[in-house]
Amino acid sequence: MLKEEKKIRLLKEEYRLLIDGEQVEASSKGWFDTYNPATGEVIARVAKGTREDVDRAVAAARHALEKSKWAKWPAFRRGQILNRVAAIMRERFEDLVRLEVLNSGKSLSAAQGQVHQAIDDFEMYAGAVHTLSGEAKPVPNGFLNYTRKEPVGVCAQIVPWNYPLMMAAWKVAPALAAGCTIILKPATLTPLTAYALAEICHEAGVPAGVLNVVTGSGSEIGAYLVEHPGVDKVAFTGETGTGKDIMKGASATLKRVTLELGGKSPNLVFADADLDAAVDGSVFGIYYNTGMSCEARSRLFVHESIYDAFVEKFVDKTRKLKLGDTFSKETHVGAVISAAQWETIDSYVKLAQEEGAKVVCGGGRPEGEEFKKGHWYLPTVLVDVTNDMRVAQEEIFGPVVVIIKFSDEKEAIRQANDNIYGLAAALWTRDFGRAHRVAAQLKAGTVMINNPFSAMPGLPFGGYKQSGFGRELALETLDLYTETKSVNAYIGSKPLNPFGV
Ligand code: NAD
Repeated sequence: MLKEEKKIRLLKEEYRLLIDGEQVEASSKGWFDTYNPATGEVIARVAKGTREDVDRAVAAARHALEKSKWAKWPAFRRGQILNRVAAIMRERFEDLVRLEVLNSGKSLSAAQGQVHQAIDDFEMYAGAVHTLSGEAKPVPNGFLNYTRKEPVGVCAQIVPWNYPLMMAAWKVAPALAAGCTIILKPATLTPLTAYALAEICHEAGVPAGVLNVVTGSGSEIGAYLVEHPGVDKVAFTGETGTGKDIMKGASATLKRVTLELGGKSPNLVFADADLDAAVDGSVFGIYYNTGMSCEARSRLFVHESIYDAFVEKFVDKTRKLKLGDTFSKETHVGAVISAAQWETIDSYVKLAQEEGAKVVCGGGRPEGEEFKKGHWYLPTVLVDVTNDMRVAQEEIFGPVVVIIKFSDEKEAIRQANDNIYGLAAALWTRDFGRAHRVAAQLKAGTVMINNPFSAMPGLPFGGYKQSGFGRELALETLDLYTETKSVNAYIGSKPLNPFGV
């Protein structure tokens, strides 16, 4: 074991399923190992859940929805518990950060930002519970009409490996706020912090059965959860292809579905931009989280008049990024999640070269003893790319950016929108009019102007086009975890006799 691992109080040797408030073995007694991607070492074993375990978790969530006080409490009581969750997370901040670094291979600074945001999320929804109210509606004489917001029910929440804790928080916090019950399925590669979050929720007072965790294969238990007749809603974050399977799987029972999917986000640098700010923001925009971000700005479009100067500065900054000890404050870029993901990234870089692109920086594994173990990939810059190449159209999900020239605003917008995805986009310009004119025309759920930060609690986050639908991280997310019930009551003094018989 690494020295660092010993210091993580939340780290256990074994993670069981969490069903109805109990930590239980999988019905098959099966386990799988989970690793540190930075070293390739095994860090814990995790219960390999089965369909039978999913049945148990769904039954527990249904029972808690109907029999526990959770859904019936006044919303502010749930808000108090969400605040307690945030307080415990804050107390264990360092442990959560280190557990995330250990299990995902990301850099300490990336994990710190994400754990902070997960905490903010719980606090935001602790306050947002006060907005969960129905409305009195305009009425014909003699009627009292109003709406009620009721929990949508039992929610399956399936999350990916790139932001293991933050994606779990984006889903769990609003669902709890709304009074739903949950079966959380973390990604097989990164189950530890989602599990720690669920334990914290129980410690904070979330009743047994309200938040259950099942770990195991996505294609087996994930798909089974999606089809399960006992589940009312599926909230999924992951690949667009998996999202399509999930939509199909959920259709037989017409479940409510929220999908946060992939991206290939454009980043537009106009000739009048503050060049240094644009370079720094664009370097962060692609290499943050080792480029394994749904909102990674992986297609960089630069005006032809500043192209050469921009590329030179961009490559210079890219070369200065530090890889290495993921627990060090100095490290900018962490490891890639798995050997399979490393191969995918490398095969795209090779494909780009076959298609005529040039690697001006990076490509392959960094040199040095410390990079021989684990899955490390150099931050990579590709030029001589056109927007129709596969490397410019498909999500790579790694530290690889393509840089493409444009000649005018219209062409920049056309190229930026010429992609199946529409999650995020960024633009850099000093021209106020252009900034907002272009923002209005970009087909993306989030547009960043002169900054690289795509997600902030309170600001809706989600996709256009094949990046999915539904918005998370905002007040309107609560609508996706509630049903609106209309109640119309007759309050007139004369009995109604519509047939007049
Ligand atoms: P993935 O689709 O492979 O897996 C995501 C989750 O789904 C995992 O828990 C997995 O076990 C489960 N799963 C896999 N197959 C399933 C099936 N058939 N039925 C039900 N569940 C199944 O995605 P990933 O590789 O873990 O994550 C990376 C992807 O997530 C990227 O495409 C990225 O862009 C996307 N992502 C999107 C957002 C967003 O907000 N839009 C945020 C983060 C990641």
